[in-house]
Amino acid sequence: MNNSVLELLCETAHSLFERGYAHGSTGNISVRLGDEVWITPTGHRLGGLTPALLARVDLRGQLLNENRPSKEHPFHTALYRRREEARAIVHLHSTYAVALSCLASFAGEDDLAPLTPYYFMRVAPLAVLPYFKPGSPDLARAIEGFAAAHHSMLLRNHGLICAGATLSEASDRAEELEQTARLHFILRDEGVRPLSPADIEELR
Ligand code: ZN
Repeated sequence: MNNSVLELLCETAHSLFERGYAHGSTGNISVRLGDEVWITPTGHRLGGLTPALLARVDLRGQLLNENRPSKEHPFHTALYRRREEARAIVHLHSTYAVALSCLASFAGEDDLAPLTPYYFMRVAPLAVLPYFKPGSPDLARAIEGFAAAHHSMLLRNHGLICAGATLSEASDRAEELEQTARLHFILRDEGVRPLSPADIEELR
C-alpha cells in the first residue's frame, strides 16, 4: 500500500469539502494503485477522512477490505478499466456543474462560450452523458464507453467526473469544470468576448 497517495487522497477530499465543492456525504474520489482502486467510503462526507476509512476494490469492483465503498464505485472501476493512463478520479455534485447538467438549453460542449484558455488546457473535451440512476450498471457502462476519449464528463441531473494521471490533475480539472459552469451562468446574459478560433488553436 502506498500510504502517501492515500494520505493525499484524504487531504484532497478534505480540501474540496472545506471549500464547498461537496456537501453532505456527496462526492467520491479514488486512486488506482496497480490493479487495485482505493475509494472514499459510502455514507461519509469528503471532509475528515483517514486512509484507514478508505475502501479497497479490484478493477471489477470486488471488495478487498472491510470498508464499504461509495455506491458509485462501479463507474470508477469502469473508467479505470477503459482509460489506462487514469490514476485518479474526482466525482462531485458541485453546485454550478450540477446546475449546468440540469439546463435544458445546454446540449453539450458547443453551447459553452470559449471564455478562458484554462478550460481548453484542463477540461476539454467534455462529454455530456444522459441521466442514469446513480450507481446503476447502465451509468457505469455509459462511462466506460466515453472513457477512452474523455477525461472530463458531465452527468445529466447529477454532477461531474474528472480523471487524471495524478490526483492533483484530476482535482484541478474538476475545479476548472466547476469554474467553467459558474462563468457560464454569471455571463449568460452579458456580452462576452470569447477566445478566437486562432486563440483556441494555439492551445491545442
Ligand atoms: Zn454522484
